[in-house]
Amino acid sequence: MSRRFVLAFDQGTTSSRTVVLDADATVCDSASLEFPQIYPHPGWVEHDPEVIWETQCATAFSAMDKAGITASQVAAIGITNQRETTVVWDRATGRPIHNAIVWQCRRTVDACQRLLDEGLGETIQDRTGLVVDAYFSGTKLQWILDHVPRARQRAARGELCFGTIDSWLLYKLTGLHATDFSNASRTMLFNINSLAWDDTLLDAMAVPREILPSVAPSSQIYGVTRAFGAEIPVAALCGDQQSALFGQTGFSPHDCKNTYGTGCFALMNTGAEVAKSRHGLISTIAWGLDGRVEYALEGSVFIGGAVIQWLRDELGLLQSAAESEGVAAQVPDTGGVYIVPAFSGLGAPHWDMQARGTVTGLTRGSNRAHLVRAALESIAYQSADVLDSMRADSGAEIPQLRVDGGAAANNLLMQHQADVLGIPVVRGKVIETTALGAAFLAGLGVGLWGCADDLRGVWREDRVFEPRWDDSLRAERLDGWRRAVAMTSPQSAG
Ligand code: ADP
Repeated sequence: MSRRFVLAFDQGTTSSRTVVLDADATVCDSASLEFPQIYPHPGWVEHDPEVIWETQCATAFSAMDKAGITASQVAAIGITNQRETTVVWDRATGRPIHNAIVWQCRRTVDACQRLLDEGLGETIQDRTGLVVDAYFSGTKLQWILDHVPRARQRAARGELCFGTIDSWLLYKLTGLHATDFSNASRTMLFNINSLAWDDTLLDAMAVPREILPSVAPSSQIYGVTRAFGAEIPVAALCGDQQSALFGQTGFSPHDCKNTYGTGCFALMNTGAEVAKSRHGLISTIAWGLDGRVEYALEGSVFIGGAVIQWLRDELGLLQSAAESEGVAAQVPDTGGVYIVPAFSGLGAPHWDMQARGTVTGLTRGSNRAHLVRAALESIAYQSADVLDSMRADSGAEIPQLRVDGGAAANNLLMQHQADVLGIPVVRGKVIETTALGAAFLAGLGVGLWGCADDLRGVWREDRVFEPRWDDSLRAERLDGWRRAVAMTSPQSAG
C-alpha cells in the first residue's frame, strides 16, 4: 500500500492538533482538542503531560478517521510544539514527576535575577542567543529539580529525563529520549555556536548532564511508533515558530515571516551564521537539516490580536474579531488616533516592562471606527518595529513578508502592514503554516520530497498586498506612532 500522507502533530499551548496532508502538501483533514490550563498560583501555569499525550493521540486517530486513512498509509509523523515548556519524567516508568511548567509561567523570575546578579547575562546571551528570562526552560528545569524530593540525586543517576514537549511526545511514541536543534536552542542550556549542551550553563542552573536528551537534526527518522496500528516513522521535531518559518518556505537568508495570533512572532532566516542582535531580538536555531543548522532572529509582540479581543471583551466595541475589518473600513484612516496596547509592557525592540497602554490624538470627532482602525494598525506598527530591528541587526533589506495566524485573515490589517513596511506582504493558501512546516520536515526526512527547493513549488500563494504609501506619508504616520509609543513610558509622564 502506498504511503502518501503525512501527519503533522501541532501541540500548542491551549490545544493539541493533528493535520493530515497528502504528497502535494494539501490539507486533507484535521482534528483538535483543547485541554485544561492549570494555575496553581497567580502567574504560574502548568499542563498535565499525560493529558497532552492523550489529547495528541486522540486527535491523530480522529484526523485519520476524518480523512478516511489508516496508519499504514502514513509515510511519516512530524511534531511541532509549544516551545520552552518543561517536562521531567521517570526514564523507567515514563511517568512525569511533576506537571509540565509552561513557557508563560513566571515562577522562576527570581532564579533569573540571580543569574543576572552573578554576572551571567552576557555569557548566556553569547552562548544561547537568548536574554535571561523565566520564559526559557533552564530555570524551569532547575525549579523541578529543587522542588521534587530526591529529583536531583535521581537525575544524576540517570533515572530521569528532561524534555520540551517535542521530546516528551517522541518518548511516548518511540521510547527514545531526544530533541532537535530548534527546541534545544530555547532551553538556555544549549550553546548555539558549538551545538552542544554548555557545562557553564548546566553548572549555573545546577542541571546534571545525565537528564538531558540527545540533540539531533529537525528532519530525520528518529524512530518508529506503533501507537496507531501500523509502524510509522517519526521524522521531524521542530519548535512552532521555526516550523512556521519552514512552512512559509523561508529557507534563504533574510526570508521573513510574521505570525499574527494573540501575540505576534516574527522570524528572519539568517542562514549559517548566528546574527547577534543589538536591537533587542533573540538569536535562535531555525532548524537542523542536510547536515547543518540554520539560524534566525526572532522578535515578539506581546499584544497582537489580543488588542482586538480587548475591544470586543473589555470595551464592547465589537461582536467578533472578524467584524473589526468592516468597522475599520468605514473610515479612510484613524483621523490621527493611535493606540499603543502596551498592556503588559512593551517587548522588542523597546523592552520597557513599566510601559502601559495609551490612546493619543483623540478629537471630538473620533468614533468607534477610528478606534477599531487604530487598534488594528497598532498590530502592524508594533510588528514593523520588530522588523526594523531585524533590518538593522542583519544589515539587509527584507524583500517581502510572509504572513500567517488568525489575524492574518484581516485584509485591512495586512494592507496596512504592507504600507507601513513599504514591502509586499504575502499570504499563503494554507494558513496552518506551523503544521505545514512539520509536515515538510517529516516528508523530507522520509524522502517524500527530495529537497527543500522542491517545496517552494508546493507552497501556494493566496494574496499579495502591495505597499501603497509614498515615503512622506510613511514618515508622517510612523512619526505619529513613535510619539504615541514615547507616551507609554512612565518617564515621559514626569
Ligand atoms: P493563537 O494561536 O495565539 O491562539 P490565532 O492564530 O488563533 O491565535 O488568532 C487569534 C487572534 O487573532 C485573536 O487574538 C483574535 O482577536 C485575532 N483575530 C482573529 N481573527 C481576526 C480578524 N479577522 N481580524 C483581526 N483579528 C483577528
